Amino acid sequence: MLTTHPFDDDHLHEECGVFGIYGHPDAASHTALGLHALQHRGQEAAGIVAFDGEHFHSHRGLGHVADNFGTEAVIKTLHGHMAVGHVRYSTTGETMLRNVQPLFADFEFGGLAIGHNGNLTNALTIRKQLVRRGCLFQSTTDTEVIVHLIAISLYSTVEERMIDALRQVEGAYSLVALTQNAVIGVRDPLGIRPLVLGQLPSGAWIIASETCALDIVGANFVRDVEPGELIILDHNGLRSIKPFVKSRSRFCIFEYIYFARPDSVMEGTSVYEVRKQIGRELAKESGVDADVVIPVPDSGVPAALGYAAAANIPFELGIIRNHYVGRTFIEPTVTIRHLGVKLKHNANRVNIAGKRVILVDDSIVRGTTSTKIVEMVRQAGATEVHMRISSPPTTHSCFYGIDTPERDKLLAYNHDVAQMAKLIGVDSLAFISLDGLYRAVGETERNARHPKFCDACFTGDYPIALADQDGGQGQESLTLMTEGF
Ligand code: AMP
Repeated sequence: MLTTHPFDDDHLHEECGVFGIYGHPDAASHTALGLHALQHRGQEAAGIVAFDGEHFHSHRGLGHVADNFGTEAVIKTLHGHMAVGHVRYSTTGETMLRNVQPLFADFEFGGLAIGHNGNLTNALTIRKQLVRRGCLFQSTTDTEVIVHLIAISLYSTVEERMIDALRQVEGAYSLVALTQNAVIGVRDPLGIRPLVLGQLPSGAWIIASETCALDIVGANFVRDVEPGELIILDHNGLRSIKPFVKSRSRFCIFEYIYFARPDSVMEGTSVYEVRKQIGRELAKESGVDADVVIPVPDSGVPAALGYAAAANIPFELGIIRNHYVGRTFIEPTVTIRHLGVKLKHNANRVNIAGKRVILVDDSIVRGTTSTKIVEMVRQAGATEVHMRISSPPTTHSCFYGIDTPERDKLLAYNHDVAQMAKLIGVDSLAFISLDGLYRAVGETERNARHPKFCDACFTGDYPIALADQDGGQGQESLTLMTEGF
């Protein structure tokens, strides 16, 4: 889901995690645990909605999962055998309760709660049309568009209405929904954001953004929810429907590089293994003589391990991270972001002084982190600093659910590698090549005609039209909305 950004109403960004469970007497506490494991996907707010057969119960709040659901008193109010939950990424956007998910509304057919990970690319366009028709929006999230489309659908069942609504939206979505009878999970036709299915030994079903959320509650991983698949979990068990036109899947490659937890398995591949393999590829592609390989923690660790092993250079922890501060990316102003980096990292001189250092990080976005880290490593006495990045240069913004700044703020948009190296202050800088990245995920190269992944942030090859960005007036969507009635 996404919200409007205060500095630029047309710039939308969010990152989120979702969790849903059907058929367990402690559905809410399992959801709280699942969300806790997904905390890296969103630290701004958390919410849970449960249903006990008669009533819906909900609690939403700003802050971390533990802040909101850490006490038994809160969990106790959320009774029911089915629940859905959501964590939302912290942006400087509209930090207000009305945007905290799962969203809940009462419809003709009863109540429905919905939690969304991803971004809809035609949400603003549809929203304008709905507002013109008299729909009263309660939040600034794109997810609410789905709620209104469900409300005005002329179909009768929840499932049909959801399908009807989702056929009108474009973009990336992994959803969990809770009705009076079922927990529903849906993944967009391209499968851009992850969604997995799991089962507890007791038989209760779970749908979650990542496998780490299954591990925490002791659930077995069953399979990935397929792109374009809608899964219904109710008293009959599990039902799967594929209501959308089939497309080639385009899972987000940045989930592997940075966003997902390394102990998660996505699309059959361990995130940790991919990261390590990228490190090995990087060492092959852009090896350099040095005394020590140092990761920028935490995201650079697996790639640095792979790099050090392939290059046969010792791996050491030369930067220590303070775990009690949030991601620096969250901070709204440059000054605070700089401070954030200092708050978060400290040089471990013993592994740096007098050494030629290779620093490994996952990405350079604005360049703020790298600049500060390099300065810190030089101050700690490094004789040379080489930087290796386990993603290709980030040249384009993401519109599908990963928070990236506007394009002109991306360092790689304005500068080539040599210029970036100079700005960051390193002796050499290299990024993994696009083909190297694809090799790390088990391909032989990037197939330019049919890339296996969404890599738009590195290539500008956006697999879903950007209707809102293109200033679309929504004519197309309006046609879709009235089609068939
Ligand atoms: P920057 O300082 O703007 O160059 O950001 C790069 C750092 O932010 C890297 O160390 C990444 O680990 C981290 N990062 C990259 N993308 C994101 C994102 N979408 N959300 C939060 N952090 C990110």
